[in-house]
Amino acid sequence: RGAAPATPAGRPRLTVLSGPSGVGKSTVVAHLRKAHPEVWLSVSATTRRPRPGERHGVQYFFVEDEEFDKLIANGELLEWAEFAGHRYGTPRRPVLDRLEAGEPVLLEIDLQGARQVREAMPDARLVFLAPPSWDELVRRLTGRGTEPPEIIRRRLDAARIELAAEAEFDITLVNTSVEAVVSELLALMRLS
Ligand code: 5GP
Repeated sequence: RGAAPATPAGRPRLTVLSGPSGVGKSTVVAHLRKAHPEVWLSVSATTRRPRPGERHGVQYFFVEDEEFDKLIANGELLEWAEFAGHRYGTPRRPVLDRLEAGEPVLLEIDLQGARQVREAMPDARLVFLAPPSWDELVRRLTGRGTEPPEIIRRRLDAARIELAAEAEFDITLVNTSVEAVVSELLALMRLS
């Protein structure tokens, strides 16, 4: 939906992939990483613990709370946000280095982070990953249906608000297939 705004002189820009929780952002990025290891992805710092299979410096830099405090205090994060009780942030320097070298950069971050990037770097292109339908998002968020109804209701209320954020974005990609989203992203970044 909607054409990409023209890029001045073909200069690579910062591309931000964001969207509601449960929409499949991390699956898209995992697929991109596997199929196109040549594409540089920003590695965020987080205070959450690694999940099985995750490695320090690959999916995230896993840091303690005190270290995250320092990153904030020293202005080393381009943006950061709290999500589900943990903090996540984008190290600023590697992103700026790549952009200055004329290389494209992709960030996969939550909606609060995307808003901060828009403020800090108005040139960034914000991509909203949308679910194929509301019913599909409900299916993903309710999962196995083992959660109490009150928790599910809260998640769905949050999802409704998150979906409304689409209006703040430059481009929407509908997550009908992971492969399709990845190739659209590569095209946006002019890598295909
Ligand atoms: P997860 O814990 O499942 O890997 O990620 C939880 C959420 O944090 C996802 O919505 C993901 O997009 C977001 N996230 C990951 N890294 C960053 C970051 O550096 N900044 C922000 N704002 N959100 C992030």
